[in-house]
Amino acid sequence: MGTKGREIVGEGVEKIIEKLNKALADEWLAYYQYWVGAKVVKGPLRGPVSAELSEHAGEELAHAEKLAERIIQLGGTPLLKPEDWLKMTNCGYEAPEDPSVSVVLSQNIKGEQCAIEVYKGLLSELKDKDVVTYDLVLEILEDEIEHEEDLENLKEDLESMR
Ligand code: FE
Ligand code: FE
Ligand code: MG
Repeated sequence: MGTKGREIVGEGVEKIIEKLNKALADEWLAYYQYWVGAKVVKGPLRGPVSAELSEHAGEELAHAEKLAERIIQLGGTPLLKPEDWLKMTNCGYEAPEDPSVSVVLSQNIKGEQCAIEVYKGLLSELKDKDVVTYDLVLEILEDEIEHEEDLENLKEDLESMR
């Protein structure tokens, strides 16, 4: 990254890079959880649910992309090994071993709620420290809030069919 660009971040760059890498781990796991969930999900509303899960998978991948680019700009290295995803993750990974629509939706809602908390926490820490990363994290948080809402709406639709 340019010298001045890094300088304006001031102290704590390494800590910021570490937190961005933890979020990067979350995004890769979220990506895969959605991606594979979209393939295996079964039951009522499977079509629209699968479509939404696929869309979210793509959006989580875009988040990973943004985080990795910023990590590099800050002079860091994005996680290089998949095994680091499980070591570094905040929100973990839930395998869709029970592929029923309601279980898969609940697992992903839980993931989004964790992501919302993580990004909200990051925003509080970044405020007054690194406005560029702050802005990026805010963009991601807006998507996670939308994801939670989309999934909760689908869950409501599902429940109203019973
Ligand atoms: Fe995300
Ligand atoms: Fe999300
Ligand atoms: Mg959506």
